[in-house]
Amino acid sequence: MHKITVARGDGIGPEIMGATLHVLKEAGAQLDIHEVEIGEKVYLKGATTGIEPATWQAIKESEAFLKAPITTPQGGGFKSLNVTVRSALGLYANIRPCVSYAPFIVGNNPQMDVVIVRENEEDLYAGIEYRQTPNVYVSHKIMTRGGCEKIVRYAFEYARHHGRKKVTAFTKDNIMKFSDGLFHRVYEEIGKEYPGIEKEHWIVDIGAAKLATVPENFDVIVLPNLYGDILSDVAAEMTGSVGLAPSANIGTHHAMFEAIHGSAPKRAGQNIANPSGLLLASVMMMAYLGEVEVATRMHEAWLATIEQGIHTYDIRQEGAKLKPVGTKEFAEAVVKNLGNKPKELRCPAYQAATKIIPLVAEHETRGDRVLVGVDVFIYAREEAKAFEKKITQLGTTGLKLEMISNRGAKTWPGGHPETFCIEQWRCRFMAPAGKQIELYVILKLLDQLGVSGYDVIKTENLYLFDGKPGFSTVEG
Ligand code: NAD
Repeated sequence: MHKITVARGDGIGPEIMGATLHVLKEAGAQLDIHEVEIGEKVYLKGATTGIEPATWQAIKESEAFLKAPITTPQGGGFKSLNVTVRSALGLYANIRPCVSYAPFIVGNNPQMDVVIVRENEEDLYAGIEYRQTPNVYVSHKIMTRGGCEKIVRYAFEYARHHGRKKVTAFTKDNIMKFSDGLFHRVYEEIGKEYPGIEKEHWIVDIGAAKLATVPENFDVIVLPNLYGDILSDVAAEMTGSVGLAPSANIGTHHAMFEAIHGSAPKRAGQNIANPSGLLLASVMMMAYLGEVEVATRMHEAWLATIEQGIHTYDIRQEGAKLKPVGTKEFAEAVVKNLGNKPKELRCPAYQAATKIIPLVAEHETRGDRVLVGVDVFIYAREEAKAFEKKITQLGTTGLKLEMISNRGAKTWPGGHPETFCIEQWRCRFMAPAGKQIELYVILKLLDQLGVSGYDVIKTENLYLFDGKPGFSTVEG
């Protein structure tokens, strides 16, 4: 018996979960199921993350969490439950296989067999956001060496375990040289430890275009959280429907399995939703639990059902003979096929060892870190020239004003009158000749700015790491 937690979720959630649990039971899955309530009702009761304290305990005490999609209520004050669960439980790897089922399901490409390995804890999903001035809003994109190492290594280990030939990385490191640059660098470093696996890096924009047009050139794709979120929906839809794709959220201690789609409230309560995404997620869960035989039987039965032309409404079927079936009827057809093997479609070779070993960050850097300056962000509703004139005349002690920029475009020294400026100015103050300074020098500067009437929004300390700037230095 495997102890698992189940949440039926919102919208189409209860229907697709009902279908999935029915197939699991009939396939002989030995599960001790503990049901919890999460999502919309819990949010509306006042839990800002859609999950109550007692629910955490249930999830932590089980071997896996099988979760139907939930609805995040509109308006402020609510944090995504998915993001909360993934980060709180350390579910760092989000695995999303996107497979073409041609000729039985008409998708955009008959040869697609891509596994998206999405980083699941970092990037813009940390949800650290600020409104800094009446017109300026900021989200922090956080990437860490540990986070990048864990996901990149997971992708290579996944490829090795599943006999995959290639791991491609997508980043935008031509623009985000620090955050995405780190991801790319770690990919290159760790990739060297896997000489038998082909490697390739694409800038995410052209990579996404290639994925959409020649998906057969891709195998495993590892990518930061936001790109992975977007591209896995695109890839799933390319296979015929977003309703087909499962997802596994894997961490060192816990794992959560779900469909990649949301709660589709417009389709709720009509017995029309496609349960396949959640059903295939439960297959991934059984493989994770080491129940290879049940996983294989369920997957084969599902493939046989697809081969028989049995589909829910969301699947495009040109010239189809059969009418779409409902959620329950689809599940029933899968149950009837238990024990049958697909004739043409290939079932993945599940192995007991699909549970990839816990991964720890290995190459933590502990280099020399020297404070050499500060970027001060100031709120001022002024023209560039007027602002520059005043602030360049301010006599500062210990630090020298080196540059002013607005939304990343340098306005002083030099600058262009055409640059569109808003009410937030970044003023870079540096120690003369890059000398080390103490924190009190920055505090003195802030005091001086405050006394002179400047409205300081925030500061960012500037460090050299082993002599190299830990801040962007080239301003256009
Ligand atoms: P969605 O994925 O729920 O649905 C978009 C459309 O895709 C639907 O209207 C439907 O046409 C189709 N679709 C999705 N799943 C389907 C299925 N199984 N069968 C048939 N058709 C299907 O996206 P949305 O409408 O943007 O989001 C609705 C809610 O879901 C929002 O509150 C959102 O926050 C939430 N959401 C939850 C999760 C999750 O719990 N993991 C993920 C994404 C979105």
